[in-house]
Amino acid sequence: MPEPFKPADVKLLELMKVKVSRKEHFNAAHRLHNPSWTEEKNAQVFGKCANANYHGHNYELVVSVTGEPDPETGYVMDTKVLSDLIRKEILEKFDHKNLNLDTPFFRNLNPTAENIARIIWDLLRPHIKPELELNITLYETERNFVEYPAH
Ligand SMILES: [Zn+2]
Repeated sequence: MPEPFKPADVKLLELMKVKVSRKEHFNAAHRLHNPSWTEEKNAQVFGKCANANYHGHNYELVVSVTGEPDPETGYVMDTKVLSDLIRKEILEKFDHKNLNLDTPFFRNLNPTAENIARIIWDLLRPHIKPELELNITLYETERNFVEYPAH
């Protein structure tokens, strides 16, 4: 008979994991807009972010990977590899771009911090080992930030 699973074992497994983060930065323009609403309602809901001629944000991006350090290297993931990946998959596509017009991701999706964080996760996930957990933290302003997945 197998031993019953004890909560203490779960705690022990969690203690073997480490979260590694890389912070990056990009500047991008966007406009929040729901085409099925009047201009008045868009302005009411999205405020300055509804401005028809776009506006910019200084986005701070934190990409975190969580897992067990490799016994040979001691790394969960080489931060140089993570940094190169973020540059290639995210910064080259988003930095100094108009998110609505210059990227294919927000043609029919409002480029809110929430949706940008989900797109960033989608773009990075295939390039990170499946056993590693991936978390995105995106600051749209110093005081407003989102985390994806939310848990
Ligand atoms: Zn905005």
